[in-house]
Amino acid sequence: MEQKKRMSRRRRQAIRKRRILIGVIVLVVAAVIVGAVLLLKQAKKKTTTKEASSKTVQNLNIDNAEQQTKAEGTDNADAKKEDAPDRSGFAVDPNVPAGSDKANEEKTVYMTFDDGPSYNTQAVLDILDKYDAKATFFVTGINPDYFDMIKTAYDKGHTIGLHTYSHDYANVYASQDAYFSDLDQIGQVVKDQIGYVPCFIRFPGGSSNTISANYTQGIMTALSQEVQARGYQYYDWNISCGDGGDNPADVLRDQAISVDYSNIVLLMHDANNKETTVQALPEIIEHYKNLGYQFKAIDRDTFDAHHGIGN
Ligand SMILES: [Zn+2]
Repeated sequence: MEQKKRMSRRRRQAIRKRRILIGVIVLVVAAVIVGAVLLLKQAKKKTTTKEASSKTVQNLNIDNAEQQTKAEGTDNADAKKEDAPDRSGFAVDPNVPAGSDKANEEKTVYMTFDDGPSYNTQAVLDILDKYDAKATFFVTGINPDYFDMIKTAYDKGHTIGLHTYSHDYANVYASQDAYFSDLDQIGQVVKDQIGYVPCFIRFPGGSSNTISANYTQGIMTALSQEVQARGYQYYDWNISCGDGGDNPADVLRDQAISVDYSNIVLLMHDANNKETTVQALPEIIEHYKNLGYQFKAIDRDTFDAHHGIGN
């Protein structure tokens, strides 16, 4: 009995030992598994970080490339500015005469747009850009909302001239003083936009207009001399596209392309209601381009195409 009891106690002890051993093994295996999982996780993290950091490097490279492109763009813009002719010499100066009665030898069209800036100036500029053609804008104060277009046109290489602020015949041709007071007003508007008062002007109605006689007899004779004495030059035209009235675009085109002078000073209008001029413009440019003409903005040496004065 006593022996039996001892035997069973030993067996129980042995069973307990085995259980403890199994427990320890399970713990060790669990620890190993957990360790392995942790190691794997860490390894994965390292790879991701590596990828992320290589991505960052890539991004940095892209950023650098972009910055380089931007820097190059700036360089180009600067270069363009440097390439643009210095036009500060276009400022009115009583000691420097402007204009020429001699045409230049190359076939040239001087497109001139009167009465702007306007709702249509941007459309006109877009077409000129498309054909890389330069032109001249004789501006007024009729649409103050578009004054910034004066600078836009100038910065694209077009010439800005003065056409009077009010464009009101009764006002500008009331007297010489009234004319110059109005001219000064538009001169200041232009100076605010481009930095100086230009020497180029166009009389409302041209120098040959006789409407001015309704207000002051002989005023065009007097003004045509006085403006030159003050350092300005006035520019008339030798062909008009006929957009003063309500002609459709094809009529404007046909009139505009009806001459073959070596120097053409073409009168057109840039005004809120002159959509037909915008419509006709591409075909007018294409016509003269096909005939080998160049398109230039007026400068100090440009043929001034004076009309005969009728008042
Ligand atoms: Zn006009």
